[in-house]
Amino acid sequence: MTTPPVPPAAATGTTAPVLLVEDVTKRHPGGVTALDRVSLRVDEGELLAIVGPSGSGKSTLLHIMGTLDRPTTGTVRVAGHDVQALGDRRLSALRAGLLGFVFQHFHLTDGLDATENVATGLLYAGVPRRRRRPLAREALARVGLEHRHSHLPQQLSGGERQRVAIARALVNRPALVLADEPTGALDAANGKAVLELLVELNAQGTTIAVITHDRDIAARLPRRVELRDGRVAADAREVGAV
Ligand code: ADP
Ligand code: MG
Repeated sequence: MTTPPVPPAAATGTTAPVLLVEDVTKRHPGGVTALDRVSLRVDEGELLAIVGPSGSGKSTLLHIMGTLDRPTTGTVRVAGHDVQALGDRRLSALRAGLLGFVFQHFHLTDGLDATENVATGLLYAGVPRRRRRPLAREALARVGLEHRHSHLPQQLSGGERQRVAIARALVNRPALVLADEPTGALDAANGKAVLELLVELNAQGTTIAVITHDRDIAARLPRRVELRDGRVAADAREVGAV
């Protein structure tokens, strides 16, 4: 299968925001309005929390930000690309080239070692096979796990598994990392370490959105977007406690 080339950042004259969600509404089958006229702009270098109680629309927004789902109305742009205008194949290429995902339950592949798991982050991005392993090792080094490169997921602690998953999200140098409850399956100490790692990666230039229901985590990040009943109830940029 040939992979369509990753679209370059759209030429707009100025640098487009990493993500622009404009007036997005999402109605799920059955009539639930999960998002109601949500607008959100994320610029390069930001670290933000999207916070809200269960049912407030966080996962729906994450799916739409990540181009895994399309809005009912409104527009989504990733690095200037209008997602609406792209067919499924172009959209997959955009996702592979510009976005990285971190999930609550890691989603590592059991039979693959840490390096191979990280390298799967390059499979759909058109990176030649011989380049994947060295890039994966580099990404593992960025999360402090070079010494675990040949370990299988079941030989790693929860915190280490999440760091492998973060390396997989980073390996293609995405414009935006979307982390959905990244500390939700970890104990307090490992959760704290993963949050510190995300802060450190952001300090090195990675743009990261953390979706969480945990107010303590949100409070530690420099920007907090609060969802309530599918609407943006607040968007605060006070300097966090990090
Ligand atoms: P959160 O992640 O903040 O808990 P969700 O985005 O999962 O919120 O859900 C927002 C609302 O949309 C809820 O009322 C939920 O029941 C509804 N919803 C979410 N996904 C679906 C779906 N696939 N089909 C129907 N309703 C859904
Ligand atoms: Mg959710």
